[in-house]
Amino acid sequence: MRVRGPAVVGGDGGFRAVATHHTDARRPGTPGPVPRRTVPHHAATRRPGSRRSLAWLAVAGAFLVLPLAGCTDPTPTEAPTECSVPARSSQRDLDPEDTPETPWQKDDGQELVVYFETGDLEDRYAGLSTAAVDYWSASPCIQAVAVSACPDDANCVAMVEEGDAGDDGESDGSFRGRDRGTYRTGGRITLHTGLLDRANDNGAMATIVHEMGHALGLVHRLNRQDVMNAYTSDATNPQPDDINFVNLAVIYGTRH
Ligand SMILES: [Zn+2]
Repeated sequence: MRVRGPAVVGGDGGFRAVATHHTDARRPGTPGPVPRRTVPHHAATRRPGSRRSLAWLAVAGAFLVLPLAGCTDPTPTEAPTECSVPARSSQRDLDPEDTPETPWQKDDGQELVVYFETGDLEDRYAGLSTAAVDYWSASPCIQAVAVSACPDDANCVAMVEEGDAGDDGESDGSFRGRDRGTYRTGGRITLHTGLLDRANDNGAMATIVHEMGHALGLVHRLNRQDVMNAYTSDATNPQPDDINFVNLAVIYGTRH
């Protein structure tokens, strides 16, 4: 995650969403609105037989509408209570500029258990990590567990600290996955304490939740208020919104 600077220091220190709204979320180079196709009107040129033409138009319209109704996105918009999604669901609100993540292997009908190893973290970050896993374990697909040392042969993500500011000089957290074929087999979250030490607990929590989200297979979201946006701050709500849980269900859920 990158820090949107300067850090916003909220007076309440609470877990609240940023109230700022960006009405124009388009980035340079992304397509603008599709121009509406204009249909010429020929009201004065109605000829005999046009009533039948209109009837045929109505029939043709019905055939057009039916397939369109079948094409509506079946993906839920609210957090699912079971780890399943309708067939043809797809993840929502993804940032196309982010690099893909790889899913862990998961058996249908069983929660995916991923351990986050916090034994090398100082108390502040170990404590925040222990709280952060509960956010993700709210997903019916995921059981995220913070442990000082991972069990043998478990799905394990190591958490480490480095006193820098990330490769780009402005990251307070990063994740690197270890994948084999189409599945994730491990990974490492690095907390860049050169920056993260300056964040308040809310901001540090958002960073840890964000990197855990990557570890679980989520990529960045376009929604600038969401914890999985590429940028977070001390005022970011670290609680993942419903769409993150929908996206996890799309990745790991059974299709019905
Ligand atoms: Zn990120």
